[in-house]
Amino acid sequence: MSSVLRIALQKSGRLSEDSYQLFKECGIRFDYGTGKLKSVSSNFPAEFLFLRDDDIPGYVEDGVADLGIVGENVAVETGRPVQTIHKLGFSKCRLSIAIPRGNEWTGVESLNGKNIATSYPNLLGNYLAGQGVQANIHEISGSVEIAPSIGLAEAVCDIVSSGSTLMSNGLQEVETIFRSEAILIAPSELAPDKQVLVDKLLFRIKSVQAAKNNKYIVLNAPNHALDKIVALLPGMKSPTVTPLATEGWSSVYSVLNENEFWENIEAIRAAGAEGILVIPIEKMIY
Ligand code: ATP
Ligand code: ZN
Repeated sequence: MSSVLRIALQKSGRLSEDSYQLFKECGIRFDYGTGKLKSVSSNFPAEFLFLRDDDIPGYVEDGVADLGIVGENVAVETGRPVQTIHKLGFSKCRLSIAIPRGNEWTGVESLNGKNIATSYPNLLGNYLAGQGVQANIHEISGSVEIAPSIGLAEAVCDIVSSGSTLMSNGLQEVETIFRSEAILIAPSELAPDKQVLVDKLLFRIKSVQAAKNNKYIVLNAPNHALDKIVALLPGMKSPTVTPLATEGWSSVYSVLNENEFWENIEAIRAAGAEGILVIPIEKMIY
């Protein structure tokens, strides 16, 4: 029987939509939603399992799944010996310590002897041990941010992205202890037939990610300004330059990194470029 990759994804939560989108962009089709627990791709040798994110590292360690997508926070907290295959760049967040707004903060030492509520006892415990701080960690599985107002703890350690949840609960973020994004995990060893499929998938993921970070740019330029403009457009090899029907003008095509684009666009315009078009790229193969 030919081999099939079993991929564990979060059933429904903050990782789900971006995970489904990633496979879609990689051209891998499968059905999800409507309470499904499992789905087989119609055009790639992959089978998807829909699970709670906390359970994914365990399934990957046990080899029930060959790959999984989780937040780094969950991968580290569960402490399962899995390998990170690739960072995926979405579901970015941080794990931070927060205290009631208005309370004085004089540094982590001020947590000595205090009670801290969190869903991440291992990450927090390791951090405090590294800082030489002794505090009482209260593990709770959800709604950590209400702990101070109900008298359970003087501080919390919770996931933050914008900070609005902390704010609306009267808390202020005082220390970031961990930064996280979604990652692709695998068992520490993969069978060779599975590794071939993982490499195939990774190639597609990297092409999709590269395309997202780059833009295709088309512009018109007077011939006397070409040298200057071409120098501002490094491109994948070098820009394509073709003559326009209008005498003395050329059209220039190139690929630019999104950051380079914003840094260079003023200089490109100042050099005489006109009719600049910036076009999204769907896939980018190096
Ligand atoms: P499950 O029901 O699967 O156990 P959950 O409630 O534990 O889900 P979610 O809130 O869906 O988890 O978060 C999943 C992951 O998304 C987190 O572990 C974290 O890596 C990331 N995450 C959490 N909150 C945010 C946020 N506000 N912005 C971006 N990413 C986040
Ligand atoms: Zn969870």
